Amino acid sequence: MFPCSSCGAALHFAPGTRHLRCPYCGTENEIAPATSAGEEPAPLAAQPYDDFAAAHGGAARVQALLASCKSCGASTTLPEGVTASTCPFCAAPLIPEEAQRTDLLQPHGVLPFRIAAADAQARFRAWLRGLWFAPGDLAQAATGVSGAGALQGVYLPFWAYDAHCTSTYSGQRGEHYWVDRVVTVRDSQGRQTPQTQRVQQTRWYPANGTVEYAFKDVLVAASPSLPASFASVLEPWGLEALAAYDARYVSGFRAETFRTDVATALGTARQRMKDAMQARIRAQIGGDVQAIHSSEETYRDVGVKYILLPVWMAAYRYRGKLYRFAVNASTGEVTGDRPWSAVKIALAVILALIVLALVLWLGEK
Ligand SMILES: [Zn+2]
Ligand SMILES: [Zn+2]
Repeated sequence: MFPCSSCGAALHFAPGTRHLRCPYCGTENEIAPATSAGEEPAPLAAQPYDDFAAAHGGAARVQALLASCKSCGASTTLPEGVTASTCPFCAAPLIPEEAQRTDLLQPHGVLPFRIAAADAQARFRAWLRGLWFAPGDLAQAATGVSGAGALQGVYLPFWAYDAHCTSTYSGQRGEHYWVDRVVTVRDSQGRQTPQTQRVQQTRWYPANGTVEYAFKDVLVAASPSLPASFASVLEPWGLEALAAYDARYVSGFRAETFRTDVATALGTARQRMKDAMQARIRAQIGGDVQAIHSSEETYRDVGVKYILLPVWMAAYRYRGKLYRFAVNASTGEVTGDRPWSAVKIALAVILALIVLALVLWLGEK
């Protein structure tokens, strides 16, 4: 797609740079920013949601070689010239010959890879070494020379929503106060004696009002290929570096395409915004404790961006079970599934019991 000017090989985006680099002869090609030198590019603007949702079919398209995984259903673009491949999400073999040139919705933005493959690999090894109670042969199985577990650079699809949210709520503000109460207690000699205790009480006042907040870049995964727990660990992404989509940033990497549509994901985004508004409502109610009986949210100026976020992924099978590992390729944050060694855990429990028995025995003496 982007041939090297000196040897003709396909140029790949070099993580952490603004360059395309030839993997064979090292020739570099700068991806020129749209602004003049020294000037910060303007942050990527969201599309008005209604316009985007209505014109979905008419939005800008991009052509790519798309391979669909028969095992987990993820569809990822393949870099040019790939001859053998596995699905980055489930490690099932992908057959490049079956990949199809497809017309895809063009993302609005892309967060370029910043962490290089070698760095991600080192983080993966350190993470494996740091696991407690992991089977001893795990590291070998996960990073084995067979190529299984090798990291793949993948751009994950996300919808990023902006919205101005207004919450109208009704609730109560609770204010604590103290009262003295006389209680009867039994002293050390077993006699009943009266004693004064301070007891906390709460007085409640009605609290109704509205809170407004302008949300920016509320992220919702546009595919279910990674569990939500992965996405939340990998946050935040460092979206300040988000660039307008340019196919050159994707060159040499895979990019998954969306499977969750923009309307369905908006439902998730609204729920997330509603949850975030609860804390703001509590702050406005004030007092010592708050009760929110109901809140009604309205949203206006809803905007959306279809964006690609970078991860280094390894999917590996250990004793027949699938495990996954991901590095946020923008911030270096690491997360993954992990196997536990039943033997090591059993040994640790036995050791703990021995120590406990010893402590009790010494205490008796
Ligand atoms: Zn070259
Ligand atoms: Zn798969």
